[in-house]
Amino acid sequence: MPHKGCPYDCVFCNQKRITGQIKETTPDDVTEIIERHLSTLPENADIEAAFFGGSFTGIPIAEQSALMERVAPYINDGRIDGIRLSTRPDYISDEILENLKRYGVTTIELGVQSMDEDVLRASNRGHSAEQVRKACEMIHSYDFRLGVQQMTGLPLDTDEKSVETAHELIALNPSCVRIYPTLTIKDTALKTLYENGSYIPQTVDEAVRLCAKLVLTYEESGVDVIRVGLQPTEEINDHASVVAGPFHPAFGELVESEIYYGIITSHKIDGDIEIHVDPREISKVCGNRRRNIERLKKEYGVNAFVKGDSNLKKREVRLIAVKTT
Ligand code: SF4
Repeated sequence: MPHKGCPYDCVFCNQKRITGQIKETTPDDVTEIIERHLSTLPENADIEAAFFGGSFTGIPIAEQSALMERVAPYINDGRIDGIRLSTRPDYISDEILENLKRYGVTTIELGVQSMDEDVLRASNRGHSAEQVRKACEMIHSYDFRLGVQQMTGLPLDTDEKSVETAHELIALNPSCVRIYPTLTIKDTALKTLYENGSYIPQTVDEAVRLCAKLVLTYEESGVDVIRVGLQPTEEINDHASVVAGPFHPAFGELVESEIYYGIITSHKIDGDIEIHVDPREISKVCGNRRRNIERLKKEYGVNAFVKGDSNLKKREVRLIAVKTT
């Protein structure tokens, strides 16, 4: 739902480009999209209909109802379990939340981006951190699942402010979070700031290091990190609309590998090692193009061999010294 319901103009946003779609979504589209996708999903899967890409609760309430009404038959016959949507913190009110409840909305994701007032202002977000706190409280009071979205590398942002934002958001008790590094996209105010030298984007390495820290911070507090990186669309993946910033088609994988590198190197390493991990995590532990294995060789002068061990869980790492004869 690109730009639907949104009169704002955040410096980084050209929603129409990000969502890779320009046409308005109608109730008929909702039915068509659901029908097209339902048959491709396994039975018994947990299935949600999701309204993303704009500020759903910013559109007139009758239009919200008309769109959600198309999901109702699928919720009633059990083929869809609920609705999830994304919106802005200042588009939350009792009237809106009561209506969402009526139509079976289960999860509300708030585009927060930062809890630092200077960063919010410089990004032209048009809402305050206090409005975020209030919206989260209201969402909980109606018993919705709360999701939050955080961005890194916004104008006037720093690593410290991003970590502080994560702590402030954790205190608001979300179930899940998405983390997006800021990309400079064509036809945005950020592109102008970048071109006149007043905005310096994060590099891929800087964004990866910071996002690794944020993911661990959220995970340690029991918040489910459901995405790190930009929503993949054809347009973003072919790099056509990205002018600058930490673009990488496998950004989430880079972050995972960085997390494992940190865990591995928190152990004492003084010779060749076997790294035992959950078998499902092996590729993340090795890293994109075996980046972690090469780094261990370069930074610690050791050979590393990654082995699967199904007794170990995600993030558990056991290092065993390789015996030399
Ligand atoms: S509120 Fe959301 S849709 Fe509106 S301009 Fe900002 S990022 Fe884009």
